[in-house]
Amino acid sequence: MTSLDDLPIRDDLRGRTPYGAPQEHVPVALNVNENTHPIPEDVAHDIVARIAAAILRLNRYPDREFSDLRAALAAYLGHGLAPEQIWAANGSNEVLQHIMQAFGGPGRSALGFAPTYSMYSLLAAGTGTEWIAAPRDADFELSLETAVAAVREHDPDIVLLCAPNNPTGTPLSLDTIRAVADVARGVVVVDEAYFEFADPGTPSALTLLGGRPRLLISRTMSKAFAFAGARVGYLAGDPAAIDALRLVRLPYHLSALTQAAALGALAHSDEMLAMVDEIRAQRERITRTLAELGFAPARSGSNFVLFGGVDDPHGVFEALLARGILIRDIGIPGHLRVTAGTEAETTAFLEAIAVFAPAGR
Ligand code: PMP
Repeated sequence: MTSLDDLPIRDDLRGRTPYGAPQEHVPVALNVNENTHPIPEDVAHDIVARIAAAILRLNRYPDREFSDLRAALAAYLGHGLAPEQIWAANGSNEVLQHIMQAFGGPGRSALGFAPTYSMYSLLAAGTGTEWIAAPRDADFELSLETAVAAVREHDPDIVLLCAPNNPTGTPLSLDTIRAVADVARGVVVVDEAYFEFADPGTPSALTLLGGRPRLLISRTMSKAFAFAGARVGYLAGDPAAIDALRLVRLPYHLSALTQAAALGALAHSDEMLAMVDEIRAQRERITRTLAELGFAPARSGSNFVLFGGVDDPHGVFEALLARGILIRDIGIPGHLRVTAGTEAETTAFLEAIAVFAPAGR
């Protein structure tokens, strides 16, 4: 049988492994930080009507500039943003890929603070960009001093600040983001994929955009917006930075069906986001209960919780899977990650994990 090694694949891709969150059909799937609440039925019907109208025009290419979608995303984000400051693609993964293609590449580097979102290093690899993983502080926090020192030391072409950070959930202060943006020579990407789950009143990095043309804020409809299957991510930045991304995107990268679906969802953003408070409450319940059980949950501003104090993460992962509960073994020794689901899903997880509580050992 032919193996990858037999193929004339690029040398820098040899030996690498693809993104690989396990895909299992289980009753309680809490492993990829989705919003586990289904889309409201009336919203689904509106989206279907919009897609039906788009289908009648599928003989034509879609709007390459996705103008209506950009206007809707600008309106959703607020902060006085104009449509020409918005970019979008098939998931924020593709948005991040566009950034790597435009601002990274051979001879260039991207810096992140590990452990962080696993796709950053894969996107760097795919675009021939050198990936630099700088360390975090204790408890997976990232202080202004640590962040600025790493940027000064490595002088990267791209800085990736995940705020809040996946897989740790830890929020990042606006002071740190501002300090990094002010000291970095390259572009600074703030990945706010989980921003909507932050505690109310938390300021977005969008407030820092004015006068900082190298600052890019990426968001997604996959998480709080409950739209992961539609693949819509987006970005806010200076119109010149958006022009740079236009150089590397494929023509018509956002299908007419995707644009129609996203516009439908955005037209009902209040309803789509209605479960965010409830999810945040479940996250707090997970953090509280895990701490009571003797685990060590990291501070979370997202819809998931990373927790330490697990003797045998893989064993616990397998034991929960056998009970139909899928969580994530991130590969951090002694740690596992769980997404905050519905109240019932969260209860199922907390009951199952209690068996492995350090307090009871
Ligand atoms: N950024 C972060 C931090 C994420 O956790 C994810 C999804 N796991 C993404 C970006 C990409 O999400 P999507 O491509 O679905 O927008």
